[in-house]
Amino acid sequence: MNIGVDIDNVISNFNEVLLNEFLIHDKDLRNSGIINANADYITRGMFDWSKEELDEFYMNNIERIAKKLVLLDGTKEYIDKLKNAGYNIFIITGRDNGEYTNPYEMTKKWLDKNNIIYDKLILTNAYDTHSKTKECLKNHIDIMIDDSKRICEDCVINNITTLLMDTPYNKDTNITRVHNWEEIYEFITEYKKN
Ligand SMILES: [Mg+2]
Repeated sequence: MNIGVDIDNVISNFNEVLLNEFLIHDKDLRNSGIINANADYITRGMFDWSKEELDEFYMNNIERIAKKLVLLDGTKEYIDKLKNAGYNIFIITGRDNGEYTNPYEMTKKWLDKNNIIYDKLILTNAYDTHSKTKECLKNHIDIMIDDSKRICEDCVINNITTLLMDTPYNKDTNITRVHNWEEIYEFITEYKKN
């Protein structure tokens, strides 16, 4: 069985690192701090930054930030368990989006550094909602796991079994929701039985 796995906020702690970086840079700007703690995402009104400030910071720092990411709890343990049980792991990340110099190399290095064992690394363009669906269909993915509501909904429309990793910015959908790798592992191993 083929399992599709997104990276950021599914196996990496992207949001945690991004928030820390925003808090640090915010001090250099106007030191306003978090102006809206209820904003559903860091880049959507949580800080008082203008669009220009936001875009500039993001483009100049995203690559450095991506290298600092660490694995979410349980990621390696459960991916190893799935590999040992014979599942194929396809890492499918939207990093081919113009924000990184050499996204494939950078991502491969990061996966190696974190001892993630996988069968194939696929890069898509995160700004194209249908691009992961296309790769899922092409690679016969049985279950896709992602944190993007947009991407998950597109997969579901195309009859791909999809798990949505719970985050503050994807609450308004009824796609099957998981909160951690233990739940992902349980779903996948149960699914096999059906
Ligand atoms: Mg993601």
